Amino acid sequence: MTYLKKSPWIVHYNASSCNGCDIEILAALTPVFDVERFGIVNTGNPKHADILLVTGSINAKNIEPLKNVYAQIPEPKVVVAIGICATSGGIFRECYNILGGTDKVIPVDVYVPGCAARPESIIDGVVTALGILEQKRLRMNEKAATEAVKVGGTV
Ligand code: SF4
Repeated sequence: MTYLKKSPWIVHYNASSCNGCDIEILAALTPVFDVERFGIVNTGNPKHADILLVTGSINAKNIEPLKNVYAQIPEPKVVVAIGICATSGGIFRECYNILGGTDKVIPVDVYVPGCAARPESIIDGVVTALGILEQKRLRMNEKAATEAVKVGGTV
């Protein structure tokens, strides 16, 4: 079992959602479902975030903004695609302007299906993301320790 050293913060990016999944994310954050009980905090600043939640399918206009938001999140980071649109393009995937899901642009760690994704599923996806985030953090620490030994050995 792994334990988080700090509260994970999330940032939310709406690619081209109908707002259905976004409302469910808000429901997950607010007291009825209360995802904050896991120490999760919603932030508007990607530089403070650990987990990126993406809703909506990807079109040409949101490729660069999504890459930009992703690039600003410090490592380690985890991406959760919320809803079938963010997962695969959903019902819009055959549209002329739709490229598909979030993983057409950035790597995705967790897929949460549904239209709209239910708050319980979103919480489940975020909790899964927490485990992946901690694994990535441990791998980064191990790699840094290995690099430090290598550097120390060559001095
Ligand atoms: S999955 Fe459904 S509710 Fe969510 S953004 Fe797509 S159409 Fe809207």
